[in-house]
This record gives sequence, structure tokens and C-alpha cells, in this order.
Amino acid sequence: MTISRFAAVVVGGGPAGLTAAIALAGAGVETALIAMPRSMPDHRTTALLAGSVTALDTLGVWRRCQTQAAPLRVLRIVDDTDRLLRAPEVCFAASEIGLDAFGHNIENTILISALEMQARDLPLLTRVEDEAASVAIEDDRITIGLKSGAALSAELAIAGDGRHSVCRAAARIEIQRRSYPQTALTFNLGHSREHHDTSTEFHTRTGPFTLVPLPGRRSSLVFVVDPTEVANLREMSHEGVAAQIERRSHSILGKIAVEPGRGVFPLFAETADRFGAGRVALIGEAAHVVAPIGAQGLNLGLRDAATIAELVVAAQRAGQDVGSATARYDAMRRADVTARVLAVDLLNRSLLSDFLPLQGARGLGLFLMRHVGPLRRSVMREGVAPLASQPRLMRGEAL
Ligand SMILES: Cc1cc2nc3c(=O)[nH]c(=O)nc-3n(C[C@H](O)[C@H](O)[C@H](O)COP(=O)(O)OP(=O)(O)OC[C@H]3O[C@@H](n4cnc5c(N)ncnc54)[C@H](O)[C@@H]3O)c2cc1C
Repeated sequence: MTISRFAAVVVGGGPAGLTAAIALAGAGVETALIAMPRSMPDHRTTALLAGSVTALDTLGVWRRCQTQAAPLRVLRIVDDTDRLLRAPEVCFAASEIGLDAFGHNIENTILISALEMQARDLPLLTRVEDEAASVAIEDDRITIGLKSGAALSAELAIAGDGRHSVCRAAARIEIQRRSYPQTALTFNLGHSREHHDTSTEFHTRTGPFTLVPLPGRRSSLVFVVDPTEVANLREMSHEGVAAQIERRSHSILGKIAVEPGRGVFPLFAETADRFGAGRVALIGEAAHVVAPIGAQGLNLGLRDAATIAELVVAAQRAGQDVGSATARYDAMRRADVTARVLAVDLLNRSLLSDFLPLQGARGLGLFLMRHVGPLRRSVMREGVAPLASQPRLMRGEAL
């Protein structure tokens, strides 16, 4: 059997894998991307924080989709729990930290199309429309066997193959998992009032109910509910759901029209014990899954992609084995991922818990953020550009 050889192979054509492949091939690393054509429609949207937008801009992707993204200029948190200890409403404005916007919200299909277009334009990127079926890690190479029977080998495999990663299993990396008694429903909506570039997160007893602006009078909604409510909401007519949404959002966006395409996502969190081992580096949801609260998941995944690409490009330029980058990669991603996974978990549990001290702590945190300007600004800065992880692409520097 002929085995095609590359410096790096990326497995999985989701947004994390595509970004890693573009970053590598665009900086001179001969890369293969193993990815099947998209089959399932994805009606979700992604709130990309400013660093992610900068990285996509630096890679030449953002120009292909920016007109279809909506800026997020104000983030508003409203305690809608009806509990004894309720937190005050807090507004974060990007202008307070000198930014035009915290980030942009974009439909996943539009983002992925822009990434795919950019990937097609890179001569050093070979797209292999297939699935990785086996992974053999040797001392000096890694060989990926494909479903079609062909095989590829490289010095390093970057696993962007999502939650059921075959690369992670081959590298014998374990995951830690926590399930939540919650399910996220996603909808896109039209509405009669302007959103004024403001994302509003209602904290309810079952989890957040978050409206995020899309261009025009449209928004996306992530509605976290008790799993027993799902069947009812999924089967309900568009008009029935629209009335529920209007009521739960206190009509801030006026009359609601629900667009076709509802998503249902049981909530859980997963973190891999290591992000790199042998000749495998895990990125995106192969490395970590966080609950869709506070727009962390793909923003972490893009920082993974930017970090591994930076390390591989540096190793290649120094004439080193690019597969040796995994230990450093693991160390560089640990603090950022751990902090975000923990923050999302704590926030979510503080909503679900009836334990008064925990509700009090959440209320106090939001009270301090509302009234203490320096604290609010440092939280906003950390949210947009985490101190623990600022790879070059996120700072607007080409690799
Ligand atoms: C309701 C909801 C809302 C969200 N909102 C946000 C948000 O606002 N902001 C944010 O930052 N994040 C958000 N996220 C998280 C974000 O959607 C994920 O982090 C992101 O989609 C993960 O991308 P990925 O590329 O890692 O994985 P995926 O998108 O799962 O891609 C993995 C790819 O690998 C392919 N694959 C799998 N196995 C193989 C194989 N053996 N061979 C080849 N290919 C393979 C799959 O087909 C798939 O294409 C949200 C998540 C949910 C559920």
C-alpha cells in the first residue's frame, strides 16, 4: 500500500480542525486534512470573542464572512430565578475597555463555509475526503488508516475529531466527564424590536436563557431547560414556541417569529487528562467539552488550534521533529482550559443549586461587578483576552 507522507495531519473538519489546518498550511507546513463533506445541518450560531475574530482575520478567513456576523457590544445579565437571594442586573459594555465589540455572533454554517473556502486556496493543504479508521503511533511517525483503505503518515496528528475522537483513544488519553440535569435547545429567531447589538442572558432556575444578536432583527437563542421539558418544546408549533420565548424574554425583543431548525443538546462537560501525548495533540471538543454557557467552547478550541500551529511552525523552522511539540502544547493549554471549564461549571451549578450560600456568592459576585468598575473591567478584559493564553494569531501576528 502507498502511504502519502505529510509533516502534519489534521483529523476532523469541524471549525477547530479547519482552523488548525489553515494556520499550518498557510505558514508553510505540508498538511493533510482528513474530513468528510458536511452532512448534518447545523442551525447553531457561535459567539466568537475578539481574539478569535482577530485570529480568523489574520488567517484570511474573516473577510469571507464578516458581513454576515453581528457585533456584540453589550452583554447584559439578568437574574430571573425568582429566588430569595437574587443578583442585581449587570451590563458589560465593550466601550468601557476601549473595544468596539466583545466579539461577533455568526451562524455555524457561514463560519464553516468561510473556513472551507480559505482551506481550498492553500496549495500546501491536501484535503482527504475520508474518515480516520485506525491510528498507529510509532517512534518517528504516526500513520492514519482511512476507511477507504488508504493510509497517511505524518510527524504529528492534530485531533480535531470531536467528542468521540479516535486519535484520543489511540493515544490512550482518558477523559473526565460530568453530566448536568439540563438540555440546551437552540433556535434562531426574527423579532419586531431592535437588539441594539446587546446579548441578554437571563439566569433561570433551570439554567441560562441567552439571546445573542444576529445581523438585522434576528437573534439566536440558547435555552437551557430541564430534560423533562424538551419533548414538549420540541413538538410545539412555531407559534407556541414563539409565545413561550416572548414570555420568558419579558418581550424585550417584541414579537418573536421562530425560524425552522431546532437543536437539542444534552449538557455535559469533558476534559481530557492530557492535551498532547506521543505524536497526538487534541484540539477543540476532542480535548474539552464545556456547557454552552458564556460562549467558551469554540473560543477555547480556536486558541488550541492557534497554539499547536504556532508550536509546529516554530519546530519546523528550527529543523526539529514537529511531533515533539505535544508536551509543550499540553503545558501551554492546561491553565486556560482548566480555568474556563471550572468557571462555566461553577456558574451553572450556582443556578441549579438551592443552597443559599452558593446563590449568595453568585449574587455578591454580580453585585461587585456592577458597582466596582476596575473589577468589572478586569473581568471583561480576561473574558476577551485571557492572560493565560494569547497565541500569536489571537494577537494579530501571522505565523
Ligand atoms: C448549543 C451550543 C451552543 C454553542 N455556542 C457556542 C458559542 O456561542 N461560542 C463558542 O465558542 N462555542 C459554542 N459552542 C461550542 C462549539 O459549538 C463547539 O466547541 C465546536 O462546535 C466544536 O468544534 P470542533 O471542531 O472541536 O468539533 P466538531 O464541530 O464536533 O467537529 C469534529 C469533526 O470531526 C469529524 N470527525 C469525527 N471523527 C472523525 C474521523 N474518525 N475521521 C474524520 N473526521 C472525523 C466530525 O465529522 C466533525 O466534522 C456551543 C455548543 C453548543 C452545543
